Amino acid sequence: MRTRGMGGRLRRAEDGGDMKRVRPIVIKIGETRVNREGMMQMLQALGVSEPGQARFKSMADTGETVMELAGRMCYQSFEIGLNPNVTKIREDSKEYFANLAKKGDGSVMEHGVLSWAFLYCSRVMTHELVRHRAGVAISQESLRYVRLRDVKLWLPDELTEDQKAQMEHAVEQTEEAYRRLDASIPWDTLPMDAKKRLTSAMRRILPDGLATHVVWSANHRALRWIIEMRTDPAAEVEIRHVFDQVAQICVRDHPMIYGDFVRTELPDGTGCWKPTLRSKV
Ligand SMILES: Cc1cc2nc3c(=O)[nH]c(=O)nc-3n(C[C@H](O)[C@H](O)[C@H](O)COP(=O)(O)OP(=O)(O)OC[C@H]3O[C@@H](n4cnc5c(N)ncnc54)[C@H](O)[C@@H]3O)c2cc1C
Repeated sequence: MRTRGMGGRLRRAEDGGDMKRVRPIVIKIGETRVNREGMMQMLQALGVSEPGQARFKSMADTGETVMELAGRMCYQSFEIGLNPNVTKIREDSKEYFANLAKKGDGSVMEHGVLSWAFLYCSRVMTHELVRHRAGVAISQESLRYVRLRDVKLWLPDELTEDQKAQMEHAVEQTEEAYRRLDASIPWDTLPMDAKKRLTSAMRRILPDGLATHVVWSANHRALRWIIEMRTDPAAEVEIRHVFDQVAQICVRDHPMIYGDFVRTELPDGTGCWKPTLRSKV
C-alpha cells in the first residue's frame, strides 16, 4: 500500500518510520547592548562632568555597561562629588563587578539579557526549562501549527546501543502511526484552522523525547541561578548537557558576571557549575 503524507512525499506505510537521531544544539543569538548616544544624554542630564563622562565613552557597547550604569545610578557613583556622600569610587569595571558580586547585588544583574536558540531539544528538556519563571522569556515551536515531516530524537548516552535500538524501534512504530494518520487527512482541502486542530490532535501520540526548538531569553541573575540548578548532578542529563554549554559560553563571553563560577567535570563529560558568590539583594 502506498500512502501520501508528510508534506506530499510518497512512501510505503509498511516501511516503518525513519526516526533521526539528533543532539541538542545551543546557540547564543542575542544580548543586551548599550545605546551609546542615550548613555551620554543620561550622563549629561545627571550633571556628570566632561572628564567624568570620558570613562563611560570609552567603555564597550555591551550589556555589562548597561548594568554598570544601572548600578551606579543607585549611589550616583558615576564620579566623585556628584553625590557629596561619595568620596571614592571604583573606576575599573572589573573591580566594580567584583564588588557587586561580593556584596550580592543580584538585582543589577537583571539589566542584561542573553537570548539563546536551543535546537533539537526534547520536550522533556523544555518542560523542565519552563519551570523557571523569573526573568525569562520563551518562544517554543508550536506543534499545533507545525506538522512534522519526521520524528527527531536524542538518545542519551546512558543507554546501551541495544537499548537505543529498542527505543528507536518503538519511536519508529509511533512515527509510522503518525504517518498513517497524516495520510488519512486531505490537508490541501482544509482551511488553516482545521489543519491546526488536526495537527494538534495528532501530536498526542508523539513521544516526550521528540526534538523541538525554543528561543529562550534570560537575564544574568536568572541565568546564574538556572546554570547552578540545572548543571547539578541531580538534574536530568539533557538539561545538564544544555546548561553546561550555556555556562561555558557565559564564562567565555561575560567573565565579569560569571568569573566566580567553578566547573567540576562529571563522569558523563558534562560539567557541574557552582558560583562562589551568591545574590543577597
Ligand atoms: C534537580 C531538580 C529536580 C527537580 N524535581 C522536580 C520534581 O520532581 N517535581 C517538580 O514538580 N519539580 C521539580 N523540579 C523543579 C523545581 O521544583 C522548580 O520548579 C524549578 O527548579 C524552578 O526553580 P525556581 O522555583 O527556583 O524558579 P525560578 O523561576 O527559576 O525562580 C528563581 C527564584 O525566584 C523566586 N521566585 C520565583 N517565582 C516565585 C514566586 N511565584 N513566589 C516567590 N518566589 C518566587 C524564588 O526564590 C526562586 O528560587 C526539580 C528541579 C531540579 C533542579
